[in-house]
Amino acid sequence: MALYHENAYVKKFKTNISKIIKFEDTYGLILEKTYFYPESGGQLADKGKINNIDVINVIKRNDEIVHIVKNKPKSESVECYINWDRRYDFMQQHTGQHLLSAVIDDKYQSETVSFHMSEEYSFIDIDIPKLGEKTIKEIENEVNSLIWENKVINTFWIDPDKIDSYDIRKQGKYDEKIRMVEIEDVDLSMCGGTHVSEICEIGMLKITNAEKVKENTFRIYFRCGRRALQYFQSINIMINNLSSILSVKRSEIVKMAKKFKKDRENYYHEIENLKERLIDEKLKNIKTNSRKIVYDTVNDIDNNALNYYANQILQTNTKIAILYDTVQKFLLIRQKGNEYNLKEIGNSIISRYSAKGGGSELIFQIVNIEISNLKNEIIERYIK
Ligand SMILES: [Zn+2]
Repeated sequence: MALYHENAYVKKFKTNISKIIKFEDTYGLILEKTYFYPESGGQLADKGKINNIDVINVIKRNDEIVHIVKNKPKSESVECYINWDRRYDFMQQHTGQHLLSAVIDDKYQSETVSFHMSEEYSFIDIDIPKLGEKTIKEIENEVNSLIWENKVINTFWIDPDKIDSYDIRKQGKYDEKIRMVEIEDVDLSMCGGTHVSEICEIGMLKITNAEKVKENTFRIYFRCGRRALQYFQSINIMINNLSSILSVKRSEIVKMAKKFKKDRENYYHEIENLKERLIDEKLKNIKTNSRKIVYDTVNDIDNNALNYYANQILQTNTKIAILYDTVQKFLLIRQKGNEYNLKEIGNSIISRYSAKGGGSELIFQIVNIEISNLKNEIIERYIK
């Protein structure tokens, strides 16, 4: 039996090295006894130190637990430390997952189809057609009530042939004795991971997000223990920052955000109106030359407004409008009728100025073009 199953709370121990395996640029240490947990069953491996040398991974190989290190310890006898913050965090998330899955299974008859746990986040995928905010809140409330009731956790081993006499939520593969993890009155699962010994040690379980990943499957992200606390700490900092940026009380943030959104829409319409008025003013002053060409420069207006301007110009006694936005380096050529071959002219301008663009016989647009004298450079050269 693995020692971490006997006691998941041992953080340091002394032992001897029984074997060293040489890998490419690391070593694998096999110890006479170990409490280090190797990666398995969705729970990540422990980290820590062996004689002050970092343990970078722990794996199971041919029924042996191998501790991966960069350097060999100098002595056969070693002192081992498990990185306890990391391990205890996994124990909290892992036990929280059992409880969460059990509550969802019991209340909504939805099975947990997969479980993922990393250093940053944990989630379960559950088999459920719909999952709304109300249900999520109910699940959260039930899970946390059970945590505060401090249901007892038991672990024990059973023979595979006795399996039918137990009502097991989560089953797995087995060929020898099976380890069972029971949360009294709530859950019974086969599991080889490490768990807290009292359910209240989960502290709190917070569901942080739920999303549909495919038909009938929702993914529920959750945080337990210290991770839940860190989540509230970061949310709290964010709310305080928002309150300070918006210069309102925390309770007024949503109201203020809605107001800003509304203001923004109003400003947008106002700006659009101003642009149109600006263009209308410019239209009063346009000069069509003897060849019925209008050329003009503008400063930083959007493409819609520029096209509106060109369109209005072509409503007058004008055959071709050539407009250049000097800030956005955007050239627009539009014609009424098909007197000019705009495709040919446009492509020729593109190659001469190493610019980019495209268009048709009626309209041609060019971006990233630098022109210092629109009249000479474009009209005199191309529009003949
Ligand atoms: Zn487990």
